Amino acid sequence: MKLIYTDSLIIGAGLAGLRVAIATKERGLDTLVLSLIPAKRSHSAAAQGGMQASLGNTVKGMGDNEDIHFQDTVKGSDWGCDQDVARMFAHCAPKAIRELTNWGVPWSRISAGPRDVIMNAKKVTLHEAEEAHGLINARDFGGTKKWRTCYTADGTGHSLLYAVDNQAISMGIPVHERIEALSLIHDGKRCHGVIARCLVTGELRAYVAKSTTIATGGYGKIYEISTNATICEGIGQALALETGVATLGNMEAVQFHPTAIVPAGILTTEGCRGDGGILRDKDGHRFMPDYEPEKKELASRDVVSRRMTEHIRKGKGDDSPYGPHLWLDITILGREHIETNLREVKEICEYFLGIDPCKEWIPVRPTQHYSMGGVRTNATGESPQLKGLFSVGEAACWDMHGFNRLGGNSVAETVVGGMIIGKYVADFCEQNALEIDTALTQKFLDKLQNEIDNLVDGKGTENPFEIKKEMQRIMMNYVGIFRNGPELDKAIAELKALLLRAKNLGLKCKKRHSNPELVEALRVTRMLKVALTVACGAAARTESRGAHSREDYPQRNDKDWLNRTLATWPNDESLEPVLHYEKLDVMKMELPPGYRGYGNDNNIAHPDTEKRTQEINKITAELGDAPDRHTLQQALMPYTLPSHLQPANERLSDTLAVIPSQPVGNKSL
Ligand SMILES: Cc1cc2nc3c(=O)[nH]c(=O)nc-3n(C[C@H](O)[C@H](O)[C@H](O)COP(=O)(O)OP(=O)(O)OC[C@H]3O[C@@H](n4cnc5c(N)ncnc54)[C@H](O)[C@@H]3O)c2cc1C
Repeated sequence: MKLIYTDSLIIGAGLAGLRVAIATKERGLDTLVLSLIPAKRSHSAAAQGGMQASLGNTVKGMGDNEDIHFQDTVKGSDWGCDQDVARMFAHCAPKAIRELTNWGVPWSRISAGPRDVIMNAKKVTLHEAEEAHGLINARDFGGTKKWRTCYTADGTGHSLLYAVDNQAISMGIPVHERIEALSLIHDGKRCHGVIARCLVTGELRAYVAKSTTIATGGYGKIYEISTNATICEGIGQALALETGVATLGNMEAVQFHPTAIVPAGILTTEGCRGDGGILRDKDGHRFMPDYEPEKKELASRDVVSRRMTEHIRKGKGDDSPYGPHLWLDITILGREHIETNLREVKEICEYFLGIDPCKEWIPVRPTQHYSMGGVRTNATGESPQLKGLFSVGEAACWDMHGFNRLGGNSVAETVVGGMIIGKYVADFCEQNALEIDTALTQKFLDKLQNEIDNLVDGKGTENPFEIKKEMQRIMMNYVGIFRNGPELDKAIAELKALLLRAKNLGLKCKKRHSNPELVEALRVTRMLKVALTVACGAAARTESRGAHSREDYPQRNDKDWLNRTLATWPNDESLEPVLHYEKLDVMKMELPPGYRGYGNDNNIAHPDTEKRTQEINKITAELGDAPDRHTLQQALMPYTLPSHLQPANERLSDTLAVIPSQPVGNKSL
């Protein structure tokens, strides 16, 4: 058995994994990262639009602060998030931006004076303050009150990942590439590392560690059409699920992005709409204001995706050989803007559609995009069930996103989560010894070896590629944007049948090294289990919340469903997960459940909502006329952060004599 030891083991070399690696390495801990692919090709590189942080530099962001970012995040989550975590996040996002700047991220900057932008399909001139000249710019994104999405044109993820990976390289953090973690070594209480397989040689290795962090990204590829990279197959979630002990949180919370191109499913960033692009139907009509008069194209993603689907169902989609779609019109932004701020979008349109988006509309439709669900952790990023197991980034359910994550909050979560959770991982490594149980490790290695032997030498007849395709079709058809009981039951029955069939997988290619068919066979069973947690969670949740929309239960039901779904898979032989629920306590919420400000307003109230609202009013009144916002926040919902991250964030508005919240000369042309 090949054994490799380290203090801090991280599975995944995307933004989240690398940021945790930096945090543990800078504490002097031996740190090792595993990745399917070279770090710089991780899916984080695909993020186009930007990263949310309440810097408040630009005139449309003036007056922004952690409170407003927190409120946008909670409303966006449809009250499904953990508000403590949303607070930790909102407070640290500006710090993460500044740290990334130090590491060389070339953020787009503000030029003082007038600038023309498109708002509500009209050209508007904004006037940026002299004092803001050269500071980090922000765009309208994610349905937020203030413009706070910082960006580097439309290549934000790319520049972030390069900067963070270069930082990791300069610190000497090793990344073992083309290595796939396939099971966790654990004794039911403590995690001791992973069994991983080299995708090139086929060798199995045991990586034994004090702490193990799952940072493997989302599970989008359980769906047929997704904006996700092909490696986003949910194996990280399966690692936790297959322990039978660790839980997955809110797996049914899957986000569909409104504007992926048809048919490839490649994303055109929300920055297109943030910068002023609009959606049109087959008649060229701008339909979003009919449904969402206030936020229009910039309502939250779950809402825009649903409105688009509703409009297509009314026969207003344009037909194509790939089904009906709508149009994204960015021609109104002008060539100069597109070639400066949306150049990746332009290239995607040219290469994959053969069109020039400066002149032609882009065919788009809602497509699977983001996994709000993942490995359930507490606020320190640790699994409540398995000591020493941490998770971060899209792989995790740290839970600042609830049932809908805001555009720009995800790359922010990777680096902020990495920064905060990395500190707790380092603490864990310092406080716990490396425990090497060779018998336990051998047991997990033998189990995986046995699985591989059966696939290569067995007489199975089922084709892993076909089973995967079937699963993706089922998820797309029955567990998509609009869901209902009968279709979800059908999905579960069909997925279970596939899982049974997957017990009889057979390979045509018998190689044990460099064998994509073997890789597929090892993954498909795990993906099916992940898909079943999504479908079963969706079937059980008889309400509509955020991206989980039940046609047969259209109301958000705070009375019965203000909780988080937890899924485990305790019995290896079983064909479905066991679901448990974790209640959200309204009496501890800083922002009790209410209307989001967009979408439908037809909620069933929680009995504590009124009580908590009165309590909040009382606490606020006791603090006097105009309480300092930090004092008020602490009185309402105290939360914990590592001490070095606690200091207040400085903003331009702290030093400006007059805050230009209503920019002088801001007029429609
Ligand atoms: C097209 C697109 C555009 C986006 N744009 C934005 C945006 O503008 N703003 C925003 O906030 N968010 C955006 N997002 C979301 C955001 O990019 C992701 O949520 C985030 O980058 C995920 O980072 P991560 O570090 O968690 O995972 P990833 O970057 O996906 O990294 C996962 C890592 O895990 C490794 N891995 C996976 N499984 C295994 C295994 N079994 N063994 C070993 N290694 C493994 C992979 O090799 C990879 O290194 C976008 C998403 C998409 C799809």
